[in-house]
Amino acid sequence: MSNTIENIKCLIIGSGPAGYTAAIYAARANMYPVLYQGTQPGGQLTTTNEVENFPGYVDGVTGPEMMVQLQQQAQRFGTDVRDGWATKVHFSGDIHKVWINDTKEIHCETVIISTGATAKYLGLPSEQYYLQTGGGVSACAVCDGFFYRNQEVVIVGAGDSACEEAHYLAKLCTKVTMLVRKNEFRASKIMVDRVQKTPNIEILYNTETEEVLGDGQLVTGVRVVNNVTKEVREISCTGFFVAIGHHPNTDIFKEFIDLDETGYIKYAQPGSSKTNVTGVFVSGDAADKTYRQAITAAGTGCMAALDAERYLASLH
Ligand code: NDP
Repeated sequence: MSNTIENIKCLIIGSGPAGYTAAIYAARANMYPVLYQGTQPGGQLTTTNEVENFPGYVDGVTGPEMMVQLQQQAQRFGTDVRDGWATKVHFSGDIHKVWINDTKEIHCETVIISTGATAKYLGLPSEQYYLQTGGGVSACAVCDGFFYRNQEVVIVGAGDSACEEAHYLAKLCTKVTMLVRKNEFRASKIMVDRVQKTPNIEILYNTETEEVLGDGQLVTGVRVVNNVTKEVREISCTGFFVAIGHHPNTDIFKEFIDLDETGYIKYAQPGSSKTNVTGVFVSGDAADKTYRQAITAAGTGCMAALDAERYLASLH
């Protein structure tokens, strides 16, 4: 452990729309925020293609472009944006301790948690094998779809993410097979319409993945089962995309912060960003399993910075 302890007013953990919006507000309020970007700088939006529903972008914007702009806006007001991720916390008393990369210790008057959520996988050994080897399993069509141009791919999931990613892949790939485990989608109607109308997307309902097939190095197909007829079939593909939801990145806080049964941080007070620990606030997907939008994350980032500012004012 490093012997040098840094003392700061406001630490922001995470670099999605929540974290950067909190940083913009905190920096403009002279809280001298330090923001650690975490393991995925820019957060989940860096894996999103076109963002069309964030107000102010008439013609849309790509996720990565928007995150660069948010970072620059936060830095313009003096936010200290750093590489690294929080690996341990100790929240008790007025000073909150956070360790970065298991070495650097920071003592903070306020902490804003904006750690977001991470993609879920099916958990099949074959899926994990080809994920680790980079042989053809991915949870991000926008990141990896390019590698499967003019090839056939399979995507599992039935929510808005799966529809968005299937549609994105259909522009690059010759064929996209979508595996939906029920006989209906969970996604919004407009997204379902879009995939249903795309000629090179085939939707297989009541269909679950049994195994990802490959030659030891690369994915060559998927074995699936129809959970109604019990018919088993193999679909050849070179890419297997998983789009089945996310897990909140809150594990390091669970000893101190109240979480719900699925790991999302609980707000201590409705209509605020307060957690059960005084001086620790939460914003974005780490506490939001309902809306999970860039705009709602940004909104709660603003709330967290304002709540932190008011808390600091009450101390001094
Ligand atoms: P969701 O939780 O909405 O959907 C997850 C999907 O994965 C469900 O259809 C679920 O199936 C399926 N699933 C889960 N586990 C398995 C499994 N083991 N095998 C097969 N299928 C499985 O997650 P999303 O990431 O799609 O969306 C998260 C939130 O973000 C939502 O609120 C969504 O509306 C929003 N969003 C909005 C977008 C937009 O507006 N542009 C784009 C992307 C997301 P089942 O239905 O059977 O439970």
